[in-house]
Parts: sequence; C-alpha cells; structure tokens
Amino acid sequence: MKIKILTVVSLLSASLILSGCGSVALTGRKQLLLVSDQEVYQAGLTQYKEYIASSQLSSDASATDMVKTVGTKLAAATEQYLKSNGLESELSNFAWEFNLVKDPQVNAFCMPGGKIVVYEGLLTVAQNADELAVVLGHEIAHAVAKHSNERMSQQILAQYGSAILSQALSQKSAAVQSAAVSVFGLGAQVGLMLPYSRKHEYEADYMGIVFMELAGYDSTSAIGFWTKMAAGGSGGSDFLSTHPSDNKRIAELQKRIPEAKQIAGRM
Ligand SMILES: [Zn+2]
Repeated sequence: MKIKILTVVSLLSASLILSGCGSVALTGRKQLLLVSDQEVYQAGLTQYKEYIASSQLSSDASATDMVKTVGTKLAAATEQYLKSNGLESELSNFAWEFNLVKDPQVNAFCMPGGKIVVYEGLLTVAQNADELAVVLGHEIAHAVAKHSNERMSQQILAQYGSAILSQALSQKSAAVQSAAVSVFGLGAQVGLMLPYSRKHEYEADYMGIVFMELAGYDSTSAIGFWTKMAAGGSGGSDFLSTHPSDNKRIAELQKRIPEAKQIAGRM
C-alpha cells in the first residue's frame, strides 16, 4: 500500500514536472519551468527596484545614452525576430529598461522581463557600440531564454524534492519567494546573484550574437571583447567570475558567428 501511494505521489510529481517544461526560443532546448513568467517577473522586479533605489545612476550622459540606445536597438530587433516566428507571447511580461550605474566593477546583469544594468567599469572593456552590444545581447538572451525561471525552478525542485513538490507548488508564493531570494540575492546585493551555469552562459553567448546581427551590429566584435575580458583576470568581479572567459568559450563563439550572420541574413 505504501509503495502504491509513493508511486501515485511520484507520478503526480513527474506529471507536474512534465507540464512544467518549456523550450528556449532560438535554440529549442527543453527546460524545466515550474513557475509562471508573471511570478518570476514580479519576484525579480521587487529586487530590481530595491537595487536601483540603493544605487547611483551614472552622471556620464553620453555613456548612459550609448547604453540606452544600443539596448533599445537590440531589444527592438529581438522582439521583431520573436514576433515574426510566432513567439510574441514570450514577451508579454517584458518591459525593457537599460541603466548605467556608477560602479567601477566590470559587471552587468539582467533581471527577468528585460531589466538590464551595466556598471560603469564595464565600459573600460566594452569601448564602442559593437562591444557594448556583445554584453547587452548576452544579457537580453538570459532574459529571453528565461534562465531565471529555470534557475528558480531548479532551486524549488532541489529544496522541496520531487516527493513533496506538488504540495510545495500548491502553496506557491512561499516557494517562489525563497527561490527568488537564493537566485537573485537580496535587495541591494542583487549583484551577487547566483552564478549562471556554463550551459546558460554558452546559450546566452549564442543567442546574444544572433540578436546583435539582427540589430545590425557586427558579432565578430565578441571575439575581441571576450579576449580582453579573459586578459583582465577574474579578480573580484561578478561578471568575470560568473561569466567564464576562456579559450573554449571564444572558440565556441568563433564557430557560431557564421550561423548568427546567416540567421540575420547578413552573410
Ligand atoms: Zn551571462
């Protein structure tokens, strides 16, 4: 009898997990999504607002303008691509925002729904619009690929285990809140968010260069940008430590640039 109940419970969990599957735009990779986009967005937005309220925006008007201009152009091209592929519903919770903050760290991050923050220090490496588009395209890709939802779903699964997953999800807000705290960090510490996996980084790199090409930027500048990042070492920077810069990564980008140009019809 006990075995039977366990079977029923695990079947229930398995079907929950199956119904919680999605697939990533552009790459088609299957992913675990246990939380709705709306819930992820709300949880991320709370933390993003706290971060913005506690940080200082850059006083460099022309650099801020470059971040907003390049970001908006990339976002428009990304939206256009998703729309023309019948994926516009993927963006229903999106409200893009691009901010440059006064902080010398070489860092950038993205919150769900397209809230993207670049630190002034990153502009010492990304020195022109194309190189900045490498960073912003990569961050936009994390948002479009719902990597935050996937990470929160993995946290929920790890925390509750498949046996009591259905119970945890029936009292969802507590599970979602606690997953959001471990994925995004707390308020002002949002820059300390849980590192992305290598799989997510490679996926964001690839999608990012496609978005770059669609927006009219030259994705070959990704090679120069990541070579400079790799030369900078990994001392004390979230962007460097969470975005592994190694030869394998650069080689992977090199391999996929022709594909990105082809998708954008810019061969
Ligand atoms: Zn990344």
